[in-house]
Amino acid sequence: MFIFDSVKKQKVKFEPIVPNEVRIYLCGPTVYDNAHLGHARSSITFDLLFRILKTNGYKVTFVRNFTDIDDKIVKKSKEVNKSVEEIATTYTKSYLEDMESLGVQRATLEPKATQNLESMFKMIQKLLDKGSAYKAPNGDIYMRVSKDSKYGTLSNRANLESQISRIGESEYKEDVKDFALWKIFENDVNYPSPFGRGRPGWHIECSAMIDEHLAYKDKEYSIDIHAGGVDLFFPHHENEASQSRCVNNKELAKYWIHNGFVNVNGEKMSKSLGNSFFIKDALKVYDGEVLRYYLLSMHYRAPLNFSHNDLMQSKKRLDRLYRLKKRLGSDFESKNLKIDSSFRESFLLALSDDINISIALSILDSMLSSYNDLLDKNPKDKEIKEMASSNILFINDLLGIGLKDATSYFHIGVSEKLKDYINSKIQERDLAKKAKDYILSDKIRDELKSKGISLLDTKDGVLWEYEPED
Ligand SMILES: [Zn+2]
Repeated sequence: MFIFDSVKKQKVKFEPIVPNEVRIYLCGPTVYDNAHLGHARSSITFDLLFRILKTNGYKVTFVRNFTDIDDKIVKKSKEVNKSVEEIATTYTKSYLEDMESLGVQRATLEPKATQNLESMFKMIQKLLDKGSAYKAPNGDIYMRVSKDSKYGTLSNRANLESQISRIGESEYKEDVKDFALWKIFENDVNYPSPFGRGRPGWHIECSAMIDEHLAYKDKEYSIDIHAGGVDLFFPHHENEASQSRCVNNKELAKYWIHNGFVNVNGEKMSKSLGNSFFIKDALKVYDGEVLRYYLLSMHYRAPLNFSHNDLMQSKKRLDRLYRLKKRLGSDFESKNLKIDSSFRESFLLALSDDINISIALSILDSMLSSYNDLLDKNPKDKEIKEMASSNILFINDLLGIGLKDATSYFHIGVSEKLKDYINSKIQERDLAKKAKDYILSDKIRDELKSKGISLLDTKDGVLWEYEPED
């Protein structure tokens, strides 16, 4: 496997610390609001990586945390007059629902900051003992960045100082680059600690959860892969790396992988989504699987300009997969009976090359075309049908798409009321055909067509599909 390491800034051969095992950490959401399309893209990207690694035979431990202590959560709780716990619980649940709609698998472990305070205390104490951190006169504890000669080498930010956020700046900091590990809050939401009542800094949460749940203690690096959105590279990941380096005397991760931004600014977009960035709003307009396919169809490092037209184009490619599944009908085998190894190998090889999704999807397109051709020529060949089924099952596992029943896939976006109407029209047309009133039966077909509904006469009766307008 090859992946692009954002620290080395090049594609490198992936060699895990321990053969056949992979340990990955992905910075999860801060649960103070509904998740947005940026979270969706990050989760889907690393869900795909998780699946690729597993398909390549690795035993993968995947940790994605929940940041449930944060200034933003406290701020929200005050705004809506609810407890911090209530806010965190509500948006953790909301996040998991969204991820389920997008076909994102649960991580191996999903630790919460509130449940890992002890490991943060241990880490902060070690940093204090080493002189890598200091207690300010007001009791806050800061990382002493000057003690870490490698600070800045991860993200390679040239003008580090100018990029430091001025928010939450303290007069007690020795240096502008220093960042908070623990902040004292006497009369605000706080947690007891050996350093006084307060709240941890965001960066220490991740470092501590990695040490507690994922890290190798006796290897050159703590974990294989640290993942996240490119917006987290600096300062979040730089700071995580620095803390862990100073505590453990080694680098945090062997590889760092970052996914690109999502921009929402298209014209059509504002009509359908009102420029909302929330996954929940997108799911009101688009099916979760269609959204997943669209978000993963663009290379993970490229910025993605969310566009309705691009999404509808990518849906057409997904339709082709479902059309083959539909064509197989009751001959679709839900067990792997006949493996098409050349398709599998080439598809997995493309994905194993820094997730080269465009090559992988073009291999998928050719597979669909060639199996349609084979079925045209040999409509009853059992072996071809078994191989086509096994290819679809392979795609189900690896991309997390194509799992729906094919008939219901083509009914997505149709209200129950419209379904009743379509069914009554189909019955009307049947009667007309029986009475040999072909003018009426054609009229009914055309009327449905004008609503985006096409009818298919099959051996199993009349089926219909809905094709949304672009
Ligand atoms: Zn993190």
